[in-house]
Amino acid sequence: MHDAGGTPVILWFRKDLRLGDNRAIAHAVTTGRPVLPLYIHEPNNGPLGRAQCWWLHHSLVALTRSLERLGSRLLLRSGPPKAVLSTLIAESGATEILWNRRYDPEGIETDSALKAALRADGITAHSFPGQLLHEPSRMKTGTGGFYRVYTPFWRAFESSGEPEEPLPPPLALPPPDVWPDTETLDDWHLLPTKPDWAAEFRNVWTPGEAGAQRRLQDFVKAGLQGYAVRRNFPAEPHVSMLSPHLALGEISPAQIWRATRVLAGDVRVEDLTSLRKELVWREFSYHLLFHFPELARRNFSEKFDGFPWRNDPEGLQRWQRGETGYPIVDAGMRQLWRTGWMHNRVRMIVASFLVKDLLIDWREGERWFRDTLVDADPASNAASWQWVAGSGADAAPFFRIFNPISQGEKFDPDGAYVRKFVPELKALPDKFIHKPFDAPLPVLEDAGVSLGKTYPLPIVDHKAARERALAAFRGLAGPS
Ligand code: FAD
Repeated sequence: MHDAGGTPVILWFRKDLRLGDNRAIAHAVTTGRPVLPLYIHEPNNGPLGRAQCWWLHHSLVALTRSLERLGSRLLLRSGPPKAVLSTLIAESGATEILWNRRYDPEGIETDSALKAALRADGITAHSFPGQLLHEPSRMKTGTGGFYRVYTPFWRAFESSGEPEEPLPPPLALPPPDVWPDTETLDDWHLLPTKPDWAAEFRNVWTPGEAGAQRRLQDFVKAGLQGYAVRRNFPAEPHVSMLSPHLALGEISPAQIWRATRVLAGDVRVEDLTSLRKELVWREFSYHLLFHFPELARRNFSEKFDGFPWRNDPEGLQRWQRGETGYPIVDAGMRQLWRTGWMHNRVRMIVASFLVKDLLIDWREGERWFRDTLVDADPASNAASWQWVAGSGADAAPFFRIFNPISQGEKFDPDGAYVRKFVPELKALPDKFIHKPFDAPLPVLEDAGVSLGKTYPLPIVDHKAARERALAAFRGLAGPS
């Protein structure tokens, strides 16, 4: 259907800040009508944490430029979506709104209510898939329920057909005769100022669709070979670092999946399968969130509701600042603060440390990650925290407690990762880089380390903390 001119369609961007593989855009183009691209700054930032607000600012700048190259623009408006859309409809005469679906519980609630309200006003609202490989409701167990265990979910995923082919970006987007007013991005104050804690983010990241595609190409060329094993080594370049791009939809999972298909034959099967399996962990997290919308707030396993979490504001702060006295934990927490991201292996180690060594409620960790990660994702973050805590679906058993020393020695054997993010330990020999507290005094002196002064003493003794955690868990489980 082509009626060039006519009433405009509103194209509402949310967690899909890209032009390629964007079904809402593809549909807008087929209408042949003028298109009004829109981003709404929703109350409470949508609700994005501060690190992701930094990302959003730069991503919107990039999206604006890409739209301008198509002869279009990006309209910025702030407020509750219904009010913003009603105003824009009244101003522009638009009769149709298009968007790609989002799958967090608040997003689903907002969008369902909105769709009904718009329809009642005679406005057509169309939504499309694209944030996930498959809709989160698609996979069903033999009895019609949802999956609580990853492996059968993966098997069902594998046998449910290939995800759809990604779509190419549009060549042009017809503009309206008159552009409605737009707000100014700087007025949204998404960037930190005093202090500018994001200074180092700029060296690590290039937000936006082009940055995401470049990251994918670089990873495919240099990082994917060996991924299955080397993805566990935080000092090595064997992970994609695509997560923040995925979180705001600058790249679609289908585009990454397709890259793995194109490469079949050039890259070892175990590396490709391993990457696919990680993408499917993301799908599994959304599957869980979809069926258990309180995933970020409530224990998936009710057994944990009576867990005796400790109230330890000082311990929490030392963990947040990377001052626990355990180098691999501190390196991870400082990587997070400096770059807005942390390697997956180290996320598991620091999460285990918070929950098991410090006995602090996993929800504190989930909240801190949500605010500081540029890839903060409502499904993966909540599901992963519950996985580490032992309270989640298909979780690691509680008694599997990460030892921060042996994990460091195994996955950062020469201490390169620790030396990068905890420079005060740089001169320590490899033997003590993960346990400075065991180093003889002359070794510490030679390395310029003074425990308790230049680097903290451990805030807990891991062995004793482990026993304490196991006792707490035994109490929870009742006498055996
Ligand atoms: P790669 O290894 O290159 O993997 C490719 C993609 O697969 C990732 O971008 C991601 O989308 C997906 N993926 C990989 N591992 C996982 C996983 N374990 N669970 C779900 N998806 C995965 N991931 C987030 O995207 N957002 C979060 O807020 C988040 N919070 C986490 C909190 C904790 C406590 C833990 C242990 C993990 C968390 N993860 C989260 C999962 C994982 O750590 C990151 O997805 C991964 O480190 C991102 O780096 P990458 O893009 O280089 O991953």
